[in-house]
Amino acid sequence: MSEARKRVVIVGGGPAGLACACALGAAGISFLLVERDAPRNDPPTILHPDGVALLHAWGCDLPSLELQAEEVSGLRVCADLAAVLRARAEQFPEGEVRHHAENVRLQQDEHGVTVDVRRGAAMDVDVVEADFAIACDGTHSLLRRRLKVPLDEVPGEQVWVVADTPDAMPPALEVRLGRDGLPAARHALPDGTRWIVALGDDDDGQALDQSEPLRALLTERGIAAEISTIGRFRYFSMTERLLRRWREGRVLFAGDAAHATSPLWGLSPTLALLDAAAASEAIQSGILEAYEAARRQSVLDVIAPDGANNLTAKLRAKAGV
Ligand SMILES: Cc1cc2nc3c(=O)[nH]c(=O)nc-3n(C[C@H](O)[C@H](O)[C@H](O)COP(=O)(O)OP(=O)(O)OC[C@H]3O[C@@H](n4cnc5c(N)ncnc54)[C@H](O)[C@@H]3O)c2cc1C
Repeated sequence: MSEARKRVVIVGGGPAGLACACALGAAGISFLLVERDAPRNDPPTILHPDGVALLHAWGCDLPSLELQAEEVSGLRVCADLAAVLRARAEQFPEGEVRHHAENVRLQQDEHGVTVDVRRGAAMDVDVVEADFAIACDGTHSLLRRRLKVPLDEVPGEQVWVVADTPDAMPPALEVRLGRDGLPAARHALPDGTRWIVALGDDDDGQALDQSEPLRALLTERGIAAEISTIGRFRYFSMTERLLRRWREGRVLFAGDAAHATSPLWGLSPTLALLDAAAASEAIQSGILEAYEAARRQSVLDVIAPDGANNLTAKLRAKAGV
């Protein structure tokens, strides 16, 4: 079935896609957002000041907690960023947020994009035409692979532990370095307390699913910690990376589809909001090259070892390690 033409089709309804919907809607630009799953609830999110400012500018209702931090002032915690963005995105008369709708094909030419969308488990496919598409389909982005856009990696694999504990803590983000220069962070969040710990390659991370070894590691990294119980525990390796090209023709990439950053400072959600604002501005002005130039450099500033906004590098320089 063919539908009325939109200005923008957004593929993916996570924080990045919903932020694009808010940015476009606030600018009066028509959009259709397609999300293959049901509306979701996300874990609490740390927001940096630039992200908070954008949420206010888009008219989002943001019940959030102030978070104390030594290195970054103006941090806030949002209990469920996707829910906040979705509530606002669904208010724009020029837009539509559609769940159980999976993008299965995308074609483009000099006039626009044609997007095939499958409805739920049915085989029915809706055909949507638009001037532009924004790919917000997450870290394993199918559109990125289909359009053959390469990723550049920051050298060095990072190994992370993310462990939650229900132990009460003051609302703060505390990041410290051990003598070896490896960081550990403690984030206090509304649903309990989260610890995020970076490990060297040789550490036995699996042993850290117990409170005593995790406490010892945090103490060694300069964070005084009493941990009685560990709840959710994850141990994973990653490399920080970003797209070489942020646009392929009329398709722009945003959020985790465009970059992967370490969880230490909780920057990913804020980067997704900044992507959305820049993508909307580029579409509004018709200068798509501006999007690629602005966002690639902005993410490089965060993840490159000598990046101007690399907070971990700043901390290491301050500590002399
Ligand atoms: C292990 C891990 C733990 C994390 N923990 C936290 C945390 O505790 N707090 C935090 O703030 N951040 C956390 N993050 C980061 C956070 O998840 C991301 O920054 C954020 O989800 C990125 O949003 P996004 O919209 O770019 O991608 P996603 O959230 O991945 O959203 C992509 C969406 O696209 C949809 N989609 C994909 N393909 C299609 C298609 N073809 N058609 C339609 N829809 C499609 C998917 O269903 C999905 O909903 C974590 C990340 C990782 C890897």
